[in-house]
Amino acid sequence: MTSAGRFAPSPSGELHVGNLRTAILAWLFARSTGRQFLMRVEDLDRARAGAEAEQLRDLAAIGVTWDGGVVRQTEREPLYAEAISRLAAAGMTYECFCTRREIQEAPSAPHAPQGAYPGTCRNIDPAELEFKRTIRPAAIRLRAAVRDWTVEDQLHGTYTGMVDDFVLRRNDGVTAYNLAVVVDDAAQGVDQVVRGDDLLPSTPRQAYLASLLHVPVPEYAHVPLVVNSDGARLAKRDGAVTLADLAFAGLDAGHVRDVILESLGLPAGPLEKALAVFDPAGLPRDPWVWPGAAGVGA
Ligand code: GLU
Repeated sequence: MTSAGRFAPSPSGELHVGNLRTAILAWLFARSTGRQFLMRVEDLDRARAGAEAEQLRDLAAIGVTWDGGVVRQTEREPLYAEAISRLAAAGMTYECFCTRREIQEAPSAPHAPQGAYPGTCRNIDPAELEFKRTIRPAAIRLRAAVRDWTVEDQLHGTYTGMVDDFVLRRNDGVTAYNLAVVVDDAAQGVDQVVRGDDLLPSTPRQAYLASLLHVPVPEYAHVPLVVNSDGARLAKRDGAVTLADLAFAGLDAGHVRDVILESLGLPAGPLEKALAVFDPAGLPRDPWVWPGAAGVGA
């Protein structure tokens, strides 16, 4: 099995400079450790027609190359189903009929961390289960045997976070991100996960799930996000933030790549130049405030 890093965009729209910066970092982490670099399109949810092609084109334009073909999650359903059946056979799943609103309104279980599923459907008796099945389709939740889990992160150190009875398959039949990501990383030989640090809080759930599925837990590096001048995560509404917008403002892809590299304290030019001096220990630990198109020379 290969040793690999990956970038795993959700094709919900065009990538912005924050996503591109994370992709460059994931590429540098993988290449600098002699790993392959894989591209996985996380299209189970929120996919917009045409977005995948735009994203792949933009990644290639800034020099992010990948090994092998693109893997799409919508083509991997049997793998997810197999993992869920293994968990079910081990008694580690249950059906949940709660609506979002019922979850919000349910009293939280004693000592449960904020945002944890309150456990409403964890122990429904068989008669009630039969009845609920006639009302609406069930989601499948993990029957977690722990309340938290600890992971090691290359940039954040030891991190402990909540594990609750999170959803494995939604009630519309769509496999949940937390299950798919663990199954795919394991199946693809991904042993290094580099992604935005907004996903750090989900990581203990994923590492716990990996342990239940008896697959290796990858190395993690959660990298700082790019934020707007208000400190909020960069979004499309923050002006010219995609390669297409920035090209319109007069900045080509090479210039955007250089601005991103500079924000990381790395030399401008083809990514290979940055690779030659890349050292994770020297990376900035704070979010990068996007200076706006004018601020980067447009
Ligand atoms: N598809 C997720 C996103 O675009 C990334 C998931 C991951 O890297 O684990 O936010």
